[in-house]
Amino acid sequence: MNEAEGETRDGMDEMAGSPDTGNLVVVLDEPQNLVNIAGVIRAMKNMGLRSLRVVNPAEWDAWRITGIAHRSDDVVESARHFTSLQEALSDCVMVVGTSARPRAAQRNYGWAREWAPRLLDAARTGPAAILFGREDRGLSNEALDLCDGVAIIPTDPDYSSLNLAQACLILCYELFLSSGEGDPDELPRGKRWAGNATRDEMEQMFQALEGGLARIDFFNARSPEAVMRTFRTLLARAGPDRQEAGLVAAVGFEIQKYLARALQQ
Ligand code: SAH
Repeated sequence: MNEAEGETRDGMDEMAGSPDTGNLVVVLDEPQNLVNIAGVIRAMKNMGLRSLRVVNPAEWDAWRITGIAHRSDDVVESARHFTSLQEALSDCVMVVGTSARPRAAQRNYGWAREWAPRLLDAARTGPAAILFGREDRGLSNEALDLCDGVAIIPTDPDYSSLNLAQACLILCYELFLSSGEGDPDELPRGKRWAGNATRDEMEQMFQALEGGLARIDFFNARSPEAVMRTFRTLLARAGPDRQEAGLVAAVGFEIQKYLARALQQ
């Protein structure tokens, strides 16, 4: 890519905003087992994908599928059926096949993780497909010829073939993460999480701790500065919330109060 192209692309990305996962399409070539189809649909729903295309499935029974993949009627009803793979892929701006094993032919192989951002990038401009093969034979060489590349999920080489729905789940998960979902900031927090301690609260905590440690002669043979720096490093790494910082501070205060009481007696 030359510099001018690079500039245009970056500009485009900015304009395009967040990736359009609505353009990501899962394509199943001749799936043989209805339970696997349902498993694929479940994986898609889990990871926020909605567009399924199926080419000559051995069986298709919407009622049984939704019996296995609950609340997936939207994907099942909107699934598009084709009698040839060419037709199913005709409008796709990128097609990535999937395979457990490198074949004899030279192809653009890449790990599933590497393909995810490329698929998302392509999905900004049109349908981008991930293609899965049939359970017994995988994708034919002719099917792989229709692909821009082949995504491989790394596995134990002695047992590399994943179940169709499980392979689909991993690909969809990579796409989900790559699209920016699964942000660590969105991790669930306990109801009692009090928010990060402020700088002032952290300083109060260190002061209280230092005061308490001094009262029990902890610094006798140690340098208070060095010890407190170690506590600073340790507690900063722990990232205490306000309540936790308050608890550590209370240890320091209680030591001081206890000794004051004891010495009065
Ligand atoms: N016996 C077949 C296995 C097919 S498994 C074979 O040897 O090819 C059904 C489908 O799941 C495959 O066609 C592929 O789309 C997907 N799949 C299974 N294992 C995979 C892996 N390790 N990496 C990527 N896709 C995989």
